[in-house]
Amino acid sequence: MKTLVLAEKPSVGREIARVLGCRKQTKSFIEGDKYIVSWAMGHLVELADPGAHDSKYKAWNAEDLPIIPDRMKHKVIGRTSHQFNTIKKMLHRNDVNNLIIATDAGREGELVARWIMRLAGYKGPFQRLWISSQTDKAIKEGFANLKPGKNYDNLMRAAECRAEADWLVGLNVTRALSCTYDTKLSSGRVQTPTLAMIAERSEQIKNFKPKPFWTLEADFDGFSASWQGKNGKRIFSEEAAKSLQSKLKESEAEVVKLDEKKQTVPPPLAFDLTALQQEANRVLGYSAKQTLKILQGLYERHKIVTYPRTDSRHLPEDVEATIPDRLKALKNTDWKNRAESIIASKPKPGKRLFDGSKVSDHHAIIPTEEVVNTSRLSEEEKALWNMIVKRFLAVLSPKHQFMKRSAEIKAAGESFFITSTKTIDEGWRAIDFQAIETKDDDNGFGNIDKLEQGTKLQIKSVKIQQSQTSPPPLHSEGSLLSSMEKHNLGTPATRADIIEKLISNRYMQRQNGKLCITPAGEEVLLLAPQQLKSPELTSQWEKRLKAIEEGNEKAGKFINDIRANTRELVDSVKSGGKNYKPVEFSKKPCPLCGRMMMPVRDKKGREIHVCRSLSCGYEEEPENTGAYGYNKPSKREKAVTRKLIKQYSDNSSDTFTLADMIKIKNDKKK
Ligand SMILES: [Zn+2]
Repeated sequence: MKTLVLAEKPSVGREIARVLGCRKQTKSFIEGDKYIVSWAMGHLVELADPGAHDSKYKAWNAEDLPIIPDRMKHKVIGRTSHQFNTIKKMLHRNDVNNLIIATDAGREGELVARWIMRLAGYKGPFQRLWISSQTDKAIKEGFANLKPGKNYDNLMRAAECRAEADWLVGLNVTRALSCTYDTKLSSGRVQTPTLAMIAERSEQIKNFKPKPFWTLEADFDGFSASWQGKNGKRIFSEEAAKSLQSKLKESEAEVVKLDEKKQTVPPPLAFDLTALQQEANRVLGYSAKQTLKILQGLYERHKIVTYPRTDSRHLPEDVEATIPDRLKALKNTDWKNRAESIIASKPKPGKRLFDGSKVSDHHAIIPTEEVVNTSRLSEEEKALWNMIVKRFLAVLSPKHQFMKRSAEIKAAGESFFITSTKTIDEGWRAIDFQAIETKDDDNGFGNIDKLEQGTKLQIKSVKIQQSQTSPPPLHSEGSLLSSMEKHNLGTPATRADIIEKLISNRYMQRQNGKLCITPAGEEVLLLAPQQLKSPELTSQWEKRLKAIEEGNEKAGKFINDIRANTRELVDSVKSGGKNYKPVEFSKKPCPLCGRMMMPVRDKKGREIHVCRSLSCGYEEEPENTGAYGYNKPSKREKAVTRKLIKQYSDNSSDTFTLADMIKIKNDKKK
């Protein structure tokens, strides 16, 4: 008898098959004596469209909302159905009596496998391969240490709840908004509160009124120090600053306090996905999505880093024994010497790195034991890999130590402060000086080594400098990710997609590495239900999903609450009745309904104009295409024909109207 192994995707499946010694290749599986390895291609099954629950839902009608099926239906995704059918056939082969789930070891991966099993009608035994690296060693160990499939039932429930919640909230609110305002508008559980954060920041910047302020700096012959009052260094009146200046001019001064302290800064924590995405955005300018993609390649193809989609910044205690091998794997890289000296120093990073209580599914992202050959990496891969290695070496390095000398100088009853620092041991900073955790508080104006308590000084001159308060900066992807994390919006695995989705919906755009809201984004936020705009609701849902995963909450109760929330949200949109004037994105009117159209790029990147009216749906044909053959009627011609049909048909309720036809068309596109 044979066991079917189900991987997340073909590339991973081929690796597993190689390690398991399966040789007989076909297009959709690889067979050996004991195992058959096949693969999904991400999800092969998804929640069915509303139309599958009741055909009347194919059309978007406000009166049908909310659509809340008693039982969610599933469907096999059309374009990969051949792969689903292959797996189904194999699960029912007479010589197959066991299944090993080897999809991504996380919430979504679990769902990929369980939905396939459900739709294929598989009721046999199953086990789970749960690994954090794709190295041969990790795969072999994983197979020697398979977990009972049932152990992951709660993970599957949480995944299913997430999918259903997104379907119920996203689909109903999107349809409610679009029908109520007869405009294509999109809203969702995570995307709407995320967009609201971007809007809030834009609002703060727009309303910001810069205030002038003045600061004073005194020259003490050899060094200078800044004046500081009870409320800090800023003086918000020029007059006050000037009078202070003349009061202090050439006064006698004395060092009233002198402090010298040794200070230490521990190394930064190892990377989880969000922290790495932030740092890569800040230092390398990568988008969150880009970082995840490159990282996935380092994990799957090169096998030189551990599992990417993690929210832990620690390692379980048993990984400690593997550290020397991970360092030795750097022997052919520029990090060779550093790695060797760390091995020789036998580091003891303790709980800062090894803390099993802070690891759930996967540990922090670190190098694997696979020997690295950097010439095989692309420039982008090399840069990201370097970042991960640097951090790994830093965490294993000693603390950064320095002496901090600070003086308070008094003159004419006013205080000046100055500090200087002197490094004792660079420690981890010698490796990872760019780490975001490093904040240099050294405002060293000069050498104050010679000062002692009671040293008498003379102010030579006092300089006034005028500045302005500045608004908070626009969000970068890095700062948006950390806000999303702080408010519990999405998971490490999904945040990058949410950002991309908001950009592709044209609600948000990138500008010089920053994110800002578009007029279309402002419009959808104006109309979206208030409850969905604050991160509160989504954050509570996310916490409850985690509780379901941990077995502390029942899925049924969660879904019932989501249904109730969906009803409320739809009601609030329908009764919102906002006096709405659509944003005009161009001066080009729709030839069918006259509304101003919106410029968008089609799949080939050509600019076309589309009508945003849901009941119209006109799309401009791109110019000079030549791609469709000249006899094919254009979309415009078809739309005009349909409009004529509508105009001349007298029964309005029984037949499809033009609007319905377009709604169905839109529905099918999803
Ligand atoms: Zn139109």
